[in-house]
Amino acid sequence: MSTADPHIHVAEKVTRAGSDERNLIGSMLGRVPDAPSVVRTGCGQRVPYAMTSTRPESVTCLACREHGHREYLRFADEVERLGRMPGAPLTGEQAGAAVARLRDLARRFSA
Ligand SMILES: [Zn+2]
Repeated sequence: MSTADPHIHVAEKVTRAGSDERNLIGSMLGRVPDAPSVVRTGCGQRVPYAMTSTRPESVTCLACREHGHREYLRFADEVERLGRMPGAPLTGEQAGAAVARLRDLARRFSA
């Protein structure tokens, strides 16, 4: 009997798991942190990093797809709110573009 899990999951912190985020951290620290070898998933398991994806179409675990959908919607709301604050680091236009991109990702997770 095999316990191998053939599904592709999302990391619990899916909105921070992408390479863009690591590159951003790397540019601040002067180095790019390694991807973690094991991550906690949206469905509460611990799996090798290689068994996760930030690309909605690649995620086959249903619970993780729902998790990704919720997380990206929540993150989009957060960015939208930050974009409206006085002195926000993003212009309204930049925030709007980011929000549209995040909502599109959310939609792809629920497709
Ligand atoms: Zn999962």
